[in-house]
Amino acid sequence: MCDDTDLKERLRLQYLDAMGIPVWKLRSQPVPAAEPAADALPSPPGRRECEGPDEENWDRLAAEVSACTRCELHLTRTQTVFGVGNRRATWMVIGEAPGEQEDLQGEPFVGRAGQLLNEMLRAIGLKREEVYIANILKCRPPRNRDPKPEEAAACESYLKRQIALIRPRIILAAGRIAAQNLLKTTETIGKLRGRVHRYENIPLVITYHPAYLLRAPLEKRKAWQDLLLAVETLNRSPVTPSS
Ligand code: URA
Repeated sequence: MCDDTDLKERLRLQYLDAMGIPVWKLRSQPVPAAEPAADALPSPPGRRECEGPDEENWDRLAAEVSACTRCELHLTRTQTVFGVGNRRATWMVIGEAPGEQEDLQGEPFVGRAGQLLNEMLRAIGLKREEVYIANILKCRPPRNRDPKPEEAAACESYLKRQIALIRPRIILAAGRIAAQNLLKTTETIGKLRGRVHRYENIPLVITYHPAYLLRAPLEKRKAWQDLLLAVETLNRSPVTPSS
């Protein structure tokens, strides 16, 4: 049995450790051991149990995406990057667009930023394969430039259909581009993070993009606050029969 303070401290240490943030502590002060957080988090991380009749819809959607020519990015991509993970996930992570490695491998978040994303998920007791990961864009913009509005608009219905099939209980938007496109706003990420938004009535929490956190490691502490907000939001939200 541990109280709320112990739990928060254990989670904090585990997260800081996973993200490579050194922790300074007084020698005389015992610090609770960092344990896997999964057992401590009230909500089950990953799966809804029963299999549904959605397979055909997934297959149709995946085929449409892989043949997509809706915007000019189809001319420069190696392949489309559809999304990966548990199609019945409680958690959905939405990033910006494939980078070089993702374009080559056909899977989102497989480069260095992806490794940090995996560690962020691990810190809140989630394995990568338990969540569903997708992007605003399914194709890599040349030289990783920002997505153009018309590219995001062309791709939007694919992501909407993925979300409708998954029906996640919480969405974590990684980075400004994901946040602004999902919320149809031009507000800065600094203004958008720290509170719970809604996307199609699903709670949506905004955090920094892992690629940004690699460049600005001091911001990892704020990202930890965002993850905690997402966990708390999920734990407060009722489980409905369809979730
Ligand atoms: N950055 C993203 O936003 N998505 C990826 O898939 C990879 C890097």
